[in-house]
Amino acid sequence: MVGNWKMNGNLRENAELLAKVVAGWQGEHSAEVVICPPFPYLMHANSVLSGSTILLGAQTVSEHDSGAYTGEVSGSMLADLDCKFVIIGHNERRRMRSETDEQVAHQFAAVQRAGLIPILCVGESLQDREQGRHLETISRQLSAVFAYTGKAVFKHAVLAYEPVWAVGTGKTATPEQAEEVHRFMRAQLEELASEVRILYGGSVKAHNAQQLFALPDIDGALLGGASLDADEFLAICKAAD
Ligand code: PEP
Repeated sequence: MVGNWKMNGNLRENAELLAKVVAGWQGEHSAEVVICPPFPYLMHANSVLSGSTILLGAQTVSEHDSGAYTGEVSGSMLADLDCKFVIIGHNERRRMRSETDEQVAHQFAAVQRAGLIPILCVGESLQDREQGRHLETISRQLSAVFAYTGKAVFKHAVLAYEPVWAVGTGKTATPEQAEEVHRFMRAQLEELASEVRILYGGSVKAHNAQQLFALPDIDGALLGGASLDADEFLAICKAAD
């Protein structure tokens, strides 16, 4: 379960939210939980989460390792702050920051060079879905990374299917829609098909999580809105457990 806080929170709110989540996630669990706060709060979140089983992640990364890239954050900086995962290719960055498939491929490699695990997001627009071109889009987004890194490195990666029309909209893919794409993505991984975790993201809430997690090719969820509410987030994590 990966909580993507996006550009939300402040020190006081974060402390409250993290304390509730940590308190509600004590002991042994089979589900792995990751929280991805905005960059300025990583260090604080790291100190609150230390001693818990909840892992830290970041929301994006530079494709470069260091140098004159004002405003950018490198994989090694994230590793320094104990991040274990980095979300890349989120549709908000592809759309609002014009990140291309090629840039995302370079970011994927940069995350792995820093010893971290990329969570590679792919997903089609509403138009692609309505025109029946959703698998074509997913294939294009995945192929750009395969072409740059090869497939073997996906052993140390997580994939996330996030239909653009379902993220932050309150609309969720139907189980059939989600399972079709997850099965397709798994098939693209060939020999690694059974080893790579594929998350679903797009308006997952406590009331629809169970139905999605029951599907054979869905291994977990990437959660935006639901990760900002401790009770909702914990209820989904417990459903996955
Ligand atoms: C996301 O931001 O990756 C996401 C899935 O958001 P939401 O759960 O709010 O749709």
